Amino acid sequence: MLKTSKGKTPRRNGQKKASNTERDPVGVYCRIRPLISEDEECCVEMISSTTIQLHAPDGLKANRNGEYKETQYSFKKVFGVNTTQMELFEDVAKPLVDDLIHCKNGLLFTYGVTGSGKTYTMTGSPGEGGLLPRSLDMLFNSIGPFQAKRYVFKPDDKNGMEIQSQVDALLERQKRESQQSVPKTPSSRQKADPEFADMISPDEACKSESVDEDCCFSVFVSYIEIYNNYIYDLLEDAPFDPIRPKPPQSKVLREDQNHNMYVAGCTEVEVKSTEEAFEVFWKGQKKRRIANTQLNRESSRSHSVFTVKLVQAPLDADGDHILQDKNQVNVSQLCLVDLAGSERTSRTRAEGSRLREAGNINQSLMTLRTCMEVLRENQMCGTNKMVPYRDSKVTHLFKNYFDGEGKVRMIVCVNPNADDYEESVLVMRFAEMTQEVEVARPVDRPIYSLPAGRRHKNQAFKDELSRRLAERGGPVNADDPGLLNQLLESLPALPPCELVDPTDDQTLPRLIEVLERRQHIRQMMKEQFNQTANTLQSMLQQFNSQLGAKDTFLHDQQSKLNEKDKVILNQRTEIERLEKKSKTLEYKIDILQKTTGMYEQDKRSLQQELESREQRLQRELAERRRMEQRMQGVVTDTKLKWEKECERRVNAKQLELQNKLWVKDEKLKQLKAIVTESSGAPAERPEKPERPSRERDRNHAQKRSASPSPLPESSQNPSHKNQARHKAVQDPYPAPAPSTSSSFPSVASCISDWEQRNPLDSGSQSGIPGTPQCRSRTPAQCYSASSVGRRRGQRWAPDTPATPIVYGLDIEAGTRTAPPVRPMHRRSHSAGGEKWVDHKPPSNLDLDTVMQPIIPNSIKVSAPNEKALSKCHKYVLRHQELASDGEIETKLIKGNVFKTRGGGQAVQFTDIETLKQECPTAPSRKRRSGSAEGPAQIEDLENKPPVMSSSSSHAYQKRRKP
Ligand code: ADP
Ligand code: MG
Repeated sequence: MLKTSKGKTPRRNGQKKASNTERDPVGVYCRIRPLISEDEECCVEMISSTTIQLHAPDGLKANRNGEYKETQYSFKKVFGVNTTQMELFEDVAKPLVDDLIHCKNGLLFTYGVTGSGKTYTMTGSPGEGGLLPRSLDMLFNSIGPFQAKRYVFKPDDKNGMEIQSQVDALLERQKRESQQSVPKTPSSRQKADPEFADMISPDEACKSESVDEDCCFSVFVSYIEIYNNYIYDLLEDAPFDPIRPKPPQSKVLREDQNHNMYVAGCTEVEVKSTEEAFEVFWKGQKKRRIANTQLNRESSRSHSVFTVKLVQAPLDADGDHILQDKNQVNVSQLCLVDLAGSERTSRTRAEGSRLREAGNINQSLMTLRTCMEVLRENQMCGTNKMVPYRDSKVTHLFKNYFDGEGKVRMIVCVNPNADDYEESVLVMRFAEMTQEVEVARPVDRPIYSLPAGRRHKNQAFKDELSRRLAERGGPVNADDPGLLNQLLESLPALPPCELVDPTDDQTLPRLIEVLERRQHIRQMMKEQFNQTANTLQSMLQQFNSQLGAKDTFLHDQQSKLNEKDKVILNQRTEIERLEKKSKTLEYKIDILQKTTGMYEQDKRSLQQELESREQRLQRELAERRRMEQRMQGVVTDTKLKWEKECERRVNAKQLELQNKLWVKDEKLKQLKAIVTESSGAPAERPEKPERPSRERDRNHAQKRSASPSPLPESSQNPSHKNQARHKAVQDPYPAPAPSTSSSFPSVASCISDWEQRNPLDSGSQSGIPGTPQCRSRTPAQCYSASSVGRRRGQRWAPDTPATPIVYGLDIEAGTRTAPPVRPMHRRSHSAGGEKWVDHKPPSNLDLDTVMQPIIPNSIKVSAPNEKALSKCHKYVLRHQELASDGEIETKLIKGNVFKTRGGGQAVQFTDIETLKQECPTAPSRKRRSGSAEGPAQIEDLENKPPVMSSSSSHAYQKRRKP
């Protein structure tokens, strides 16, 4: 079984260098060695735990005119002169050993000029062991009890590792031990070099805390020296000829199938303890020293590489044996490198071939420097320059550390001696530059699927087994002498077999017989043993098969468990996801709740505002209503006041005018008297003119109105005239005032006067002469137009269509200011049996029955008189006139007769009926109501109350329309 593992230069199997994204810089530490004597000039000063300062030595400053200044260099950590080996190990090497145990590779090298303490740091001295012995000690302290038997792991020649069963390993061990002429004995260890002994004091021992106990470990060490760009195996067992020493054979570097570099044919020694490892190391050291002496080499010019390779494989499910699976074998390695002195060749007094060699050595350090520079540039600038690893063996060997993964640490050793100043500056520069190079961090190995604690369980099982066997009387031991004696006693005793007589023929046959019996018993016992052995074997086989079944069952369970684990893991991630989601949702809900709260608050405040506004509005409305009422009150008051005022003024005016009239009358009387006097008759003394009072004026007016007026209309008193004019302007239907008194204008004259002002055919739509203007007006206008009539107490009800317009005419003798009696239920009055005053002026043409209504129960008058009016309830005026078409038109102006408070009569006009004859050939709207249906109309009128004339109702309908 072959396991291809890490070679000298490690790289994960099949891994590409870019697979790991995490990178760490090369850890660079600085160690300052103490000065040999206090007289020496010191040029290095430790400023802090990470920084040192270099001062140019006095001589150098003088030579270069103070050109050199103090320079500071920082490192991951600086170890001062008093740093112990243990402290250095704790900080620098211990983590690397820990990594090694956890299957990670590491590279640790010391760098510096010769004499700066590289070897001291790496190897140390007796009592002050360096990093190497301490690393080995820690490693074995950690894995000690878990080590595999020797030869279980076996290096192949191709940088791989083989694994074999413990039985095969035992056989190989026996074979090799038999080959060795002098077997290893503890006494050989006692012969160790004195320098090697007591490198580490026992109290300084340390170990890794987290070792996988369910693994088996093996440690292999190799030790090579690179000198003059040649690789020498320091552990090679070559026969050494002290008389004619042969130069050692140099080794070559090879690349394994995983492209890892390794030294082909290099000896790898399996070591089982710290001491053994020391011994191997020291063997190499000795060989190195001898070679250097014999070949006249300078040891400071060689690089030494001590590699600790740790192989580990997990135990099987029982925890008893190593799992025979090459894929589970893991190899990690830690390279401890003591580099050659970094000083330039001029410093050493080398000459000839040694100078050339030294040049080569220097060349390898130069290559190391170049490699670091190119690496740094590639990493920092993203360039892809080729790193010249192949230019020297050292860099080539460690190529995979920088290209692959691992932990790289460098200890820069400085001698503060002023003589080393210039070299030290170069070392510092290199060290600072190296710090900027990054190396991929090694990744953790996956954990085996087998359950943990297998070794522990197996041990516990073994302990328990041995305890129980001891309880049963102990294990059967074939070597037990008591058991053997018992067995011997059970056999037939041997007879005495001494032959004293040559003729004795009984002793031998007896002996033969006993021996035969014994032989027989032996045979029987053998058969029995075989039988038992067979039974045991079958039992064992059965047990084995059971175990196998259990194993497979366990394996199944394990795989199920793994699946379940996976499911659990998935569910856990799902739960985490959901938890996150729920958290975000909660957060959102929180925000929404807050927003809702804010909005609700807004709503409340707005509602409050609304309420307050509503209240204010209500208040304002109430206030306005109050104001309106108050204003209405004020208006009514003012109106009343003004009405009174107007009345008062009118009366005053009347009085004044009457006075004037009276004065004129008086003058006239006086004039008359003068005239009569002058004509002979003595004139009566005129009555003393009396100033008319309001009361008297009324009586006087009554009296005066009884006498006929010399001027029927124009000579009317001015107040009447004014009033009439006023009415004419305001009222389109000036009430004609038929009265018993002739001083008042006749109804006909009123009508004609009105018609003159409002010609009948002035509007094309005026088919109803009585309501020509009102028809074209809005009801509001009609309303305002009749306001005068209403003020006089006439009733106007626009909302009662059956009620016609009522025009008032005060026929009260002498007094027109008294309000007329309100007309009540005109229809009921006209229902029949009423008496009519039929006023037919004498000027009317006698048309006989044509266009004349027949009104029964009527008093026919040519002029209205009080007597006739007092007897009747109704009044009708027949008015003839010439229409625009030349035809005679008869208008029946109807009204109700009322008694006035003053004892007079008043007519209130209610209706105007027009009767007209027209030629049927002339199409006209008027003709319908006139000639064509004339007789029928007339007949109608005879039976119906005159109010309901078609024209008037039509007019009425028109008025209602808007
Ligand atoms: P290098 O290997 O760099 O040439 P060495 O390790 O051989 O140098 O050191 C030279 C000498 O200095 C040795 O004798 C060593 O014991 C001594 N030395 C070096 N470093 C220290 C130290 N830190 N403490 C005490 N002695 C030291
Ligand atoms: Mg050295």
